[in-house]
Amino acid sequence: MGEKEGFIKYKRELESSRNPKDRINDYKEIHHPIAPETLNNQAARCMDCGIPFCHQGCPLGNVIPEFNDAVYREEWEEAFNILRGTNNFPEFTGRICPAPCEASCVLGINKDAVAIELIEKNIAEKAYELGIAKTKIPETRTGKKVAVIGAGPAGLAAADQLNQAGHDVTLFEKDKKVGGLLRYGIPDFKLEKHVIDRRVEFMEKEGVTLATGTEIGVDITAEKIMLDFDAVVLSTGAQEPRDLKINNRDAKGVHFAMEFLGEQNRVVSGERKGENPISAKGKHVIVIGGGDTGSDCIGTSNRHGAASITQLELLPKPPKQRTNLNPWPEWPMTIRTSSSHEEGADRVWSVLTKEFTKDEKGNVNGLTLVDIEWKEENGRMQFFEIEGTERTVPCDLALLAIGYTGPKQNGLLEAFGVEAYDNTLPKSKEYQSTQKGVFLAGDMRRGQSLVVWAISEGRECAVKVDEYLNGKSSSLAKRDQSFYRNVEDAQFYQ
Ligand SMILES: Cc1cc2nc3c(=O)[nH]c(=O)nc-3n(C[C@H](O)[C@H](O)[C@H](O)COP(=O)(O)OP(=O)(O)OC[C@H]3O[C@@H](n4cnc5c(N)ncnc54)[C@H](O)[C@@H]3O)c2cc1C
Repeated sequence: MGEKEGFIKYKRELESSRNPKDRINDYKEIHHPIAPETLNNQAARCMDCGIPFCHQGCPLGNVIPEFNDAVYREEWEEAFNILRGTNNFPEFTGRICPAPCEASCVLGINKDAVAIELIEKNIAEKAYELGIAKTKIPETRTGKKVAVIGAGPAGLAAADQLNQAGHDVTLFEKDKKVGGLLRYGIPDFKLEKHVIDRRVEFMEKEGVTLATGTEIGVDITAEKIMLDFDAVVLSTGAQEPRDLKINNRDAKGVHFAMEFLGEQNRVVSGERKGENPISAKGKHVIVIGGGDTGSDCIGTSNRHGAASITQLELLPKPPKQRTNLNPWPEWPMTIRTSSSHEEGADRVWSVLTKEFTKDEKGNVNGLTLVDIEWKEENGRMQFFEIEGTERTVPCDLALLAIGYTGPKQNGLLEAFGVEAYDNTLPKSKEYQSTQKGVFLAGDMRRGQSLVVWAISEGRECAVKVDEYLNGKSSSLAKRDQSFYRNVEDAQFYQ
């Protein structure tokens, strides 16, 4: 496996990035390509640890040590086939995954983890460059028709898998183009959209029919879909934003993050002519919420030329290193500095938003805050305001990035006769909803999550749809067992 003692010889190294001062002048991806020798050394760091916890860390069960070894040997076709066996879209996850695999890498116990995400991205890119990534047209067709509704990563993965199983798949998408939050949420500086187009062109050639600009429940009824198709996958995401119910929320200049980011992505792609109707130029921007969406608002505000950017987080500042309560291989609850943070923003933790202030024209002009202290009381952590810390800070644009409560409440689930829990997530058992023949995948089933989970959900849901249509699913096993080192490994990870 790789180079014996490579993990002692080489340090973890990632791609270098463009200078933050330069890169905020455009929306292009920020990384420089990595030198082949450096990549080879990174693959050599994988240490054949015996029980590869990285498999378990990755929701897709990516067979990581094996593709690392193939990269080390420069066997790109082998590496790509191993990776593609478990992940339909390594070119997406290789760019934007928070890499739970790296968090559970055994080397990470006392050294820096193997740079798995970097290796994954480079395998995918090399496969396109060398023509290894090829269209794969299914040899036989089952004659069964499947409607996949919602073309984010979950719907794309389900459509790809079901098409490869020989079903006739139509992928319905209400937006002009497919990709979901990959296209309209995540900014180009993290994922340029030609990367999605390149992959989707393959899927079309392989037989997936795209029906974009078609909102199910509006342009076509749920009844018609159920009549016309043998099975339905609902993968419409969880894009209902959580609101901040404080005084003067209705002030002009207070927006949900996705109103800002979605329009910006449309401007960058040319889908929207002219400027983003929400501009951060010259403004004091306050981003409320410390997650990925908040980070993307910072990166975009810097590119607009904001006067200042402050990101607020209710929770306390996380530690730099894992604590004893958060041991390896758990996901590390440590401080994360994104590329957008590197470009400039003030970050404030343990702070509560009290109310917006507005001028006589109704424009937001300030945000009143108070510091808080977190304490355990009655067995749970609670926050308490710190007296004397209340202040009002300037704010001309507020972006709410405090999460999503679940699927959009637009009657779609009801139209398909799908029951939901009180928290609005649809009820499901093994991806099957309460309506026969209607399946669920991605954020709409599990709630706001990650791209890697959406792909995993799409794949696993496809297995259940295939079983429903064929009585069994031999062609779509979640993982291709031939890539495991031995049968015991394969059984252990199923
Ligand atoms: C700003 C932002 C940044 C993020 N950054 C990251 C990141 O860096 N890394 C990461 O792993 N995750 C990130 N995420 C999370 C990730 O994007 C989501 O978890 C993932 O996209 C969910 O995939 P999905 O396919 O379930 O849903 P979505 O991507 O939400 O796709 C759902 C699709 O369904 C369509 N649709 C909805 N209703 C209908 C209808 N009635 N008819 C037809 N089509 C319909 C929608 O238009 C959409 O295209 C981010 C999320 C946001 C909002």
